[in-house]
Amino acid sequence: MTQAGRTIVWLRGDLRIDDNPALAAATRRGGDGCVALFVATPELWDRMHWGAARRSMVIGGVAAMQSSLETLGVPLVTLEVGRDTAIAETIAAVAHALKASEVHANREFGVWEDERDERVAAALSTVGCELVRHEDQTILPVREIRSGSGTPYTVFTPFKKRWLATLAEVGIPELDTPKTVKTSARPPKDLPHAVSLDELVARHPAGHFTPGESEPLRRVDAFLAGPIERYHDDRDPPALDGTSTISPWLACGSISPRRLLHDLVARFGDDPGSWREGPATWLSELIWREFYRHAMDGIGRLSMDRPLHGWTDRVAWRDADADYTAWCEGRTGIAIVDAGMKQLAATGWMHNRVRMIVATFLSKHLLIDWRRGERFFMESLADADFPSNNGGWQWAASTGTDAAPYFRVFN
Ligand code: FAD
Repeated sequence: MTQAGRTIVWLRGDLRIDDNPALAAATRRGGDGCVALFVATPELWDRMHWGAARRSMVIGGVAAMQSSLETLGVPLVTLEVGRDTAIAETIAAVAHALKASEVHANREFGVWEDERDERVAAALSTVGCELVRHEDQTILPVREIRSGSGTPYTVFTPFKKRWLATLAEVGIPELDTPKTVKTSARPPKDLPHAVSLDELVARHPAGHFTPGESEPLRRVDAFLAGPIERYHDDRDPPALDGTSTISPWLACGSISPRRLLHDLVARFGDDPGSWREGPATWLSELIWREFYRHAMDGIGRLSMDRPLHGWTDRVAWRDADADYTAWCEGRTGIAIVDAGMKQLAATGWMHNRVRMIVATFLSKHLLIDWRRGERFFMESLADADFPSNNGGWQWAASTGTDAAPYFRVFN
């Protein structure tokens, strides 16, 4: 394949060098150099309800990539665009100024994200540049997995069966490594909406978790070296550190899900069917993550504040602002609920079992609309991840993919 002239990799939910298909393609194709572009979009982040914990993982993740990008010969350009309607024209103006012919980006899940990319692609075409999208968010191409009737799966167990069968068919997907670019591009300093990385970092200081690629790799190594063997037992009691705690990095793409599968295969072999219960259960949780992305992609209303099951929109949720505030602040009087909400406020993370407990408490005891809880989680979590959070809330509130119709209430 002939090389493109100059390429841009537009970094979004993929803040890593390792196994980054958009970065790998942009470095391969950039005959006349490659530039990495990150666009801070505060107005959009407000609309997505990202709080300080999530934003600092993102900005810190970009900052942590800078020197590795330079080693690859890829300079990093940072911009800040206030109005999200201006994103498309800004990226087109930057592509024009850089004389780029291709912008590579990894595709994100969600209706709005697709619409934004369509606007960017249209704006780029006016300056003779093409938007090329890649898939990096899941181990397998879950957008293509369909049930026998051709529709997306809405129940986990059959999806998991199909997912494992697909893996057996296609084999372990390869990792995509970027190559060093020979011609170094020198981006001009006066690009539209340019902002210094130092300024972004100063505005988004690191929180409880250290952003970047090194920490999640270290955590995964430590987890796979021992705790994973007891994961099936230890993952539920919230008092144990029985899980990997890599979600804050997975959410902003500082580690790739395919890397996790490769590390699992390196230790336990390439046939998940033969794995012991601990690693098999952990893989199952990674498949839950893929399942929620699959559902979000196939069922547009999930991106639009709507329940999976339309009838649940007729539930007469209580407004109960005082109860809601007590829940947010960990003052309900129920010790495990309050402990979870305080852990969330202090660290930006909460144990999965406790997430399920506080979510059913809000929706089934306080009878408050799950969407208020979903939004509060998005604002508070360092691992705020729209498909997993929406999926988790709808599951807990029985408006979504739980196979039990409505009567699962946590004790
Ligand atoms: P581990 O147990 O080590 O699992 C490894 C990885 O598998 C996780 O990092 C995560 O990516 C994935 N995973 C595990 N459990 C689930 C699950 N139930 N659903 C989807 N993926 C899973 N996860 C997020 O990443 N972001 C969210 O915003 C989010 N919101 C949630 C809201 C509610 C109401 C509930 C019930 C769950 C939510 N989850 C969310 C899922 C889950 O709680 C976290 O992924 C998990 O607690 C992260 O801890 P860990 O990395 O130690 O997970």
